[in-house]
Amino acid sequence: MSESQSQGFLDTVNQNFDAAASFLDYPPGLLDQIKVCNSVYKFRFPVRREGGGYEVIEAWRAEHSHHKLPVKGGIRYSPDVNEDEVLALAALMTFKCAIVDVPFGGAKGGIKIDPRKLSVEQLERITRRYTAELTKKNFIGPGIDVPAPDYGTGPREMSWIADTYAQFHPGEIDAIGCVTGKPLSQGGIRGRKEATGRGVFFGVREALADAELLKELGLSAGLAGKRAVVQGLGNVGSHAARFLQEGGALIVGLSEWEGAIANPKGLDVAAVLKHRAATGKISGFPGATDIPSEDALFLDCDILVPAALENVIRGSNAGRVKAKIVAEGANGPIAADGDAILKQKGVCVIPDMYLNAGGVTVSYFEWLKNLSHVRFGRMEKRFEEMSAARMVKTIEGATGKALGDTERKLLIHGAEEEDLVNSGLEETMSVAWNQIRDAQRKHPKSDLRTAAFISAIDKIAVSYLELGIFP
Ligand code: NAD
Repeated sequence: MSESQSQGFLDTVNQNFDAAASFLDYPPGLLDQIKVCNSVYKFRFPVRREGGGYEVIEAWRAEHSHHKLPVKGGIRYSPDVNEDEVLALAALMTFKCAIVDVPFGGAKGGIKIDPRKLSVEQLERITRRYTAELTKKNFIGPGIDVPAPDYGTGPREMSWIADTYAQFHPGEIDAIGCVTGKPLSQGGIRGRKEATGRGVFFGVREALADAELLKELGLSAGLAGKRAVVQGLGNVGSHAARFLQEGGALIVGLSEWEGAIANPKGLDVAAVLKHRAATGKISGFPGATDIPSEDALFLDCDILVPAALENVIRGSNAGRVKAKIVAEGANGPIAADGDAILKQKGVCVIPDMYLNAGGVTVSYFEWLKNLSHVRFGRMEKRFEEMSAARMVKTIEGATGKALGDTERKLLIHGAEEEDLVNSGLEETMSVAWNQIRDAQRKHPKSDLRTAAFISAIDKIAVSYLELGIFP
C-alpha cells in the first residue's frame, strides 16, 4: 500500500474514533490520551545481500496504549509498510483487545521488505536482527510487548523471535511468552493458526442469528445456503472460507492477488487451495469462471469477506459491492469514503476490530499457557472423564439401559486443549457481539463500527478513571 493510502488508513481509524467519541462524555484529555499512540520506535539496520553488499532495512514497533501491560500486536512484512500504517494498526489493536476483554494494550510492528523476494536465510537474519533491536530498546518481553504474526509472517518467524529473545535472557523462565503464534513444539497452542478465521466465522454466525439485524437486512436466519465471497486465501481468509463452508454457506467466489474465480453453484475451498498449491495460481479451477482479482468484490452474494489488505473497498468501487453483509476479516479493508457509500446502500459492515479479534484472543490463551507452563486440560481431562464415566454407569444402573459406544464416548470425553481454546474463543466472540449490540441500542444513531469503538473506549476509560488518573 502506498504512503498516501496508508495515511488514509490512519485518518480512517482516527475518524472512526472521533465518531464514537462524539457520543461519549468523559473528562477533557481522557479521550485524547486514549486516541494517541504512546510510543513508536523507528529504526534501520544493515543486512548482507546474498549476491554481496549490504541493504539497509527500515522497521517499526509502535506501542499505542499502555493502559494494560503487556502491549500486543502482530509484525507485518511488506514492501509497502510505513509508519502511518503501523500506527493505525497499533491503535486498532488497543480497541480490539478492549472489545474482546483481552487484558493487553495495543501495538504493531512492521519491516519494509518483500518476503516473497528473500531467501529463508535472509528472512531469518532480518527477523533475528529486528528482535535484537527491540530487545535493546525494551520493546519486547512477556510483560512488556508481545508480538504475533500478521501479513507476511507466520509461526516460523515467531519461532525465530522467541529463540533470539531467549538468547538475550538466559534463565528467564517466562521468556517463551515474549511472542505468540509460535509452532506447537516452541510453546504454541492448538487452534491458534485457525483462530482468526474461526473467529470470523463465529462473528458472522452471531450476525446471522440477530433477529433485529436480519429484519433490517431482509435476510433469513442462519448460515445455511448463504452465498459468500472471500478475498485473500492467507491465514485469515483460507480458514474463514473453510469454516463458513463447513457452517453451510455456499462459497461463490474466491480471490487472490493473481486472479479470482467464481461459481454460483459453490466452490470447494479445500480443493481450490490444493489446486493453487499445485499450479501456483487460483485460475483454471475446474468448473469455475476466471475473473480479475478485484471483481470478486462485486459478485452477487450475501456475505463478502475481505481478508487480504487495507482499503480494498474505496469511494471509487464501493458502489459496485452487492453483498448485504461485509465481514471485515482484514484490518481496515474499507476506506472511510467506501464506508460512507456502503452505509448509504444499507450494507451491514461487521467491523475488523471485533471480527478478526479471534487471533489475539487465542494469542492471549497461548500467553497464559506459556506463563503457567502447562497445557490447558492436562490436569483435569482424565479426572473429568472418570467422573463422567461414573455418572454414566450410575444412570445405566438406575435405568437398566446401556448406552451405545458413540454416545458413551461423547458423554465422557474430557476437554483437550483445542476444545478449551475453541470454546473460549466462541464464548468471547459471542459476549463481545452482545456488548457491541448493547452499545448500539444505547446510541441508536451509531452503526456497528461506531458501537464497537464505543464499547472499547468505555472499557479503556474505566481503566484510567479507576486508576485515579483524569479525576
Ligand atoms: P497472509 O499473508 O497470511 O494472507 C494474505 C493473503 O492475501 C495472501 O494469500 C495474499 O496473497 C492475498 N492477497 C494480497 N493482495 C491481494 C489482493 N489484492 N487480492 C486478493 N488477495 C490478495 O495474511 P493474514 O495473516 O491472513 O492477514 C490478512 C489480513 O488480516 C491483514 O489485514 C491482517 O492485518 C489481518 N489480520 C490477521 C490476523 C492473523 O491472525 N493472521 C489477525 C487479525 C487480523
